Amino acid sequence: MMNTPLLLTQMIERAERYYPKKEIVSRTESGISRFTYKEMASRARRLASALEKLGVEEGDKVGTLAWNHHRHLEAYFAIPCSGAVLHTINIRLAPQHIIYIINHAEDKVLLIDSDILPLIERVKDQLTTVKAFVIMTDSDTLPETSLSPAYHYETILAEGDPHHPFRDDLDENAPAGMCYTSATTGNPKGVVYSHRGIVLHSMALGLADTTGVSEKDIALPVVPMFHVNAWGLPFAATWFGTSQVLPGPYFTPKLLAELMQEEKVTITAGVPTIWLGLLKELDENQYDLSSLRSILCGGSAAPLGMIKAFEEKHGIPFMHAYGMTETSPLATVTGEKSYMEEWGKEEKYNVKAKQGILVPGLEMRIIGKDGEVSWDGKEMGELTLRGPWIASEYYKDERTDEAFKDGWLYTGDVVTVDEEGFVKIVDRTKDLVKSGGEWISSVDLENALMAHESIFEAAVVAVPHPEWQERPVACVVLKEGDHQNTTKEEIYEFLKPQFAKWWLPDEILFFEEIPKTSVGKFLKRALRDQVKERVGQ
Ligand code: ADP
Repeated sequence: MMNTPLLLTQMIERAERYYPKKEIVSRTESGISRFTYKEMASRARRLASALEKLGVEEGDKVGTLAWNHHRHLEAYFAIPCSGAVLHTINIRLAPQHIIYIINHAEDKVLLIDSDILPLIERVKDQLTTVKAFVIMTDSDTLPETSLSPAYHYETILAEGDPHHPFRDDLDENAPAGMCYTSATTGNPKGVVYSHRGIVLHSMALGLADTTGVSEKDIALPVVPMFHVNAWGLPFAATWFGTSQVLPGPYFTPKLLAELMQEEKVTITAGVPTIWLGLLKELDENQYDLSSLRSILCGGSAAPLGMIKAFEEKHGIPFMHAYGMTETSPLATVTGEKSYMEEWGKEEKYNVKAKQGILVPGLEMRIIGKDGEVSWDGKEMGELTLRGPWIASEYYKDERTDEAFKDGWLYTGDVVTVDEEGFVKIVDRTKDLVKSGGEWISSVDLENALMAHESIFEAAVVAVPHPEWQERPVACVVLKEGDHQNTTKEEIYEFLKPQFAKWWLPDEILFFEEIPKTSVGKFLKRALRDQVKERVGQ
């Protein structure tokens, strides 16, 4: 067979040629605008030529600090298709981490949304490699800024070449993108995505038994484009000519529900906290979301109670997936096997609450204390993965040796696998509660708690214990109204029939809010400190 390179160039050129009329709906600071793939591709070509004029060369890193919108999508292709590297920067990281990753990646140019300008202005003197700042704004003029040299995105596009050729002579293993993932301690770690990895990952997103993204879909990635490339959706959607709805900055659950209703969105993707917010909105107000064929949920465990509420109360199918920055991210995804149709409802839901089966193209091994564990749904071990869209190292980082061994990625996630091959994430190694030599899954307790009708959110953390080493403590946020009267005792009564006695949390604490990470996951590190303070340790 021919060994032709797999390049992002082919993806955008396909959209341009086959789907010129299909639409991208983009919400920005000033409202909603619409672009066709024809316009998108010609704007991406203009951007590529403009970046070249700014001195961007093959292999150079171009950072983006931007929300989900059409300009960011243009950068997604303009940068890699001219041989440079798209470095999406998580704008919610602490300023010292943002400085670190821009310098560590050696970004030459930064593309910045105008509302994010103050963040970069404050740290500009500490950026050692950036030669130019391009400001993305709806305004006709460059906003007041202390960054220099600063360029107005639309002006450089207007002066750019709409026919600028994309590179088709790149090595498929050349870097196309990069993204930093937060580490438990220390600086974020960089993952570099190759053209080949992104193309194959996109193909996996299109498989009927995974997320099945296709031309007929209208996709709304809620997951930020600075978080693992919005799970690869913008790439796959463009390649397949899928309509895209990009929700822009500062959206609310109400705004998302309205966008989904008006644009007749068929597939959307985000972390559980987003869906908890949407669920509340759907419970309170009427929307017609009958176009939605799937909510794709990942990033942390989707509570069973939430999955049931979407499917049974609102008739919206739910799809649970697992992955990480190092895995592009799609690694496993729920998929009912045909013979499971006959199974009872609860049995099916138990499968749905798991993280799913391995996506075709990848390999996994589950490593326990004494080698590979058996697939019995009980024995726990660390999930290790390999495949063409799994990273093989951290970018210029000695922590590579901890996670990448013998050609496998050690995910740091403890899992069980059942006889059918469905993976269940028990916990992150660092979040497991190690009580008296046994393990307690914080995720299982959280899921059970969140199935309680009065509980909005719940997180479980380990606190040190003199006798048992660690014990679980539950942090609970109650729903509004009468639910606020729910007592600790009632919650214990609810949990007791579901768990062995020693699994029950030593304490249940009520919180106004659970601290979250930059991408909306429970921030267990901060929560542990708060809990320690409250239980007097
Ligand atoms: P960060 O470390 O910044 O959260 P990632 O976004 O790469 O970085 O997070 C990957 C981690 O998120 C995984 O290692 C796993 O612990 C967790 N995760 C992802 N998807 C799921 C899921 N569906 N259920 C449970 N945990 C998940």
